[in-house]
Amino acid sequence: MTRLHNLGFPRIGARRELKQAVEAYWAGTLQQSELEHVGRSLRERHWALQAEAGVSPLPVGDFAWYDQILEFSCLLGVVPARFGHGDDQPVDLDTLFRMARGRAPTGTPAAACEMTKWFDTNYHYLVPELAANQSFRIARESLFEQVEEAKALGHDPKPVIPGPLTYLYLSKGDAFEGATDTAKLALLERLLPVYRDILRRFADQGVTWVQIDEPILALDLPDDWQRAYLRVYDSLAGAADLKLLVATYFEGLRDNLFTALQLPVAGLHLDRVRGDDDLQQVLPRLGDKVLSLGVINGRNIWRADLDALLETLAPLRDQLDDRLWLAPSCSLLHVPVDLEQEDKLDDELKGWLSFAKQKLQELAVLRGALDGDDSVRPALEAQRAAVAARATSPRIHNPAVADRLAGADRLSRDRLSPFAERIGKQQAALKLPAYPTTTIGSFPQTPEIRAARRDWKAGKLGDADYHERMKQEITRVIRYQEQVDLDVLVHGEPERNDMVEYFGELLEGFAFTRFGWVQSYGSRCVKPPVIFGDVSRPHPMTVEWLRFAQSLTDKPVKGMLTGPVTILQWSFVRDDQPRQATCRQIALALRDEVQDLEKAGIAVIQIDEPAFREGLPLRQDDWRAYLDWAVDCFRLATVGVADETQIHTHMCYSEFNDIIEAIAAMDADVITIETSRSNMELLEAFQNFEYPNDIGPGVYDIHSPNEPAVDWMVDLMHKAADRLPKERLWVNPDCGLKTRKWEETEGALANMVRAAKQLRAG
Ligand code: GLN
Ligand code: ZN
Repeated sequence: MTRLHNLGFPRIGARRELKQAVEAYWAGTLQQSELEHVGRSLRERHWALQAEAGVSPLPVGDFAWYDQILEFSCLLGVVPARFGHGDDQPVDLDTLFRMARGRAPTGTPAAACEMTKWFDTNYHYLVPELAANQSFRIARESLFEQVEEAKALGHDPKPVIPGPLTYLYLSKGDAFEGATDTAKLALLERLLPVYRDILRRFADQGVTWVQIDEPILALDLPDDWQRAYLRVYDSLAGAADLKLLVATYFEGLRDNLFTALQLPVAGLHLDRVRGDDDLQQVLPRLGDKVLSLGVINGRNIWRADLDALLETLAPLRDQLDDRLWLAPSCSLLHVPVDLEQEDKLDDELKGWLSFAKQKLQELAVLRGALDGDDSVRPALEAQRAAVAARATSPRIHNPAVADRLAGADRLSRDRLSPFAERIGKQQAALKLPAYPTTTIGSFPQTPEIRAARRDWKAGKLGDADYHERMKQEITRVIRYQEQVDLDVLVHGEPERNDMVEYFGELLEGFAFTRFGWVQSYGSRCVKPPVIFGDVSRPHPMTVEWLRFAQSLTDKPVKGMLTGPVTILQWSFVRDDQPRQATCRQIALALRDEVQDLEKAGIAVIQIDEPAFREGLPLRQDDWRAYLDWAVDCFRLATVGVADETQIHTHMCYSEFNDIIEAIAAMDADVITIETSRSNMELLEAFQNFEYPNDIGPGVYDIHSPNEPAVDWMVDLMHKAADRLPKERLWVNPDCGLKTRKWEETEGALANMVRAAKQLRAG
């Protein structure tokens, strides 16, 4: 019989129970024992649900209080010295939370560990911090306890741990330069014995299979990292009487494929949704390994075409027999838990979707069909009908959008004049001083604004009243900016809950779930919109708000839109056409909005692209193609305006080296970026490239409540002027202000304007 397994299940709970519990624990309203009880019952429920679908062995170790990499750092005793943790004490829960957030109900606060994106997902992990002479030991028992827990419930547990090379690659430390630094490999000598101990502990517990995640095999690996693989797995393979399954995901293995196939392990998992390694190369080199194929998409929410899968899997099954395992492509961490809860989605749309629980059921049907089990036939037929209905539904296919897209090739991708000519006209029209000041868009989202929006959505506040409240807020924001003497004003975005959801709700082709939460980091979850069909803009989206804001002042008010790549990146995207086609549709809708704003007298328009860089593919070979269409979409959205209209963009990170050429190709008149925390050193990419257009390097960190000093910001701008022509520089914060309080914002912006005035005075 073909085996089903799962790489990991979302830990957060169908109703975000884990979020509520950990937050209550942090706030002191839930005891640790109560928190542990919540964790146990979530694990129990999630195991039961997987077992019911026929998944065996079951993943254990995918549960985490905050993050699975942090859990493993604690297991290994990798606790940075500032947390004052004794070298021989077990790592307790509050130490784990202090590493994650800087504080916990007990213990002395210390600077939290760094968090960064997990490969190309929207999940963030806690970066392990390693000392040059880092030692490792088994310092936390919870994983072993969870193995016992699963066994006591009658399951066959499969512990899931990060592989040693992936763990080191993802870590950082003062002694190391970047992810790929070979010096980290020297730590293997200390790390591997602990891995061997861990494996022996599992074996003693009666575990048969251990899943070792090595997703870095899907990256471009330096030679010495690739070569280390054989040595490392030789050492692990003999450690204990267990079977090791190496799991890879998020891409194919390409040049690392043969390395993976050579490893002396009992199984290998390949992502067959994102990867397309040639299985004809794999099978002859597989030896007696189990081949686990990730055939159900763990990163998206569509029901799978099981017929198509059956066709490719049937011959493999004949060849591999029970050495063929089926699984989702990656951990289900990246999809919501259970579609059944969605009581507000219409049946048609719901019939096209599949969340974590449903994905396992799809796998069960697939397995049944593959093994000739007739009882799955009705389910298989229902699936077939749903997939066919989706393919032809008029809700998805809008001929007007298709026509427009087909004609989009003929639209110019160039502004009327080059930047050097445009900027003069813009300066004349906008009457801007040297070192112009602006903000990134949002102003503080006060509890009153949030309450008004909640009441309006719940139908407790009428449209007219709601609009009145928003207008009051916009008026307040405009008045404040005039008073503090900013140069390019914004309306403050009070009407927006979220920069993607807001636009998704106003565009055709988007749907929203009620409970489709996905963990982003720790207790924070996001609920990505679902782009199910052709995207179009039935009505202008922001024009009325902006027209009103502009009517209040003689200074230019900057229109504010979310860019096509960011909308794409932060949504679940349809899988029946290339991502770039969907992105172009969004770009065309935004193009109309840009032009309508211009017609309404808005002379400065910002298109935010904070997710531009995170769309970069994992493999460098694929970058060019992505950057080409991403830039093309930005230009498609923005170029249809007069020279005098100034286009801004904003990106809130600062690693631009890989994408500087693309940024320049976007040809925004002004880009505002995050640099304040790097002392302007990260302007180097722009300096080396001799970036030609205007740039606003953020002069203060909006994530901090501290008031930035005038001198400090002046100094930063001097540093920026050392790297770039000062005529090209703007003065602005490094991101939107929506998470700050008004008191903080007022002081900070007043100082920022003072700094700009000092700079102008020379
Ligand atoms: N305009 C948005 C804001 O100011 C930009 C947010 C972002 O960059 N993530 O809130
Ligand atoms: Zn930002």
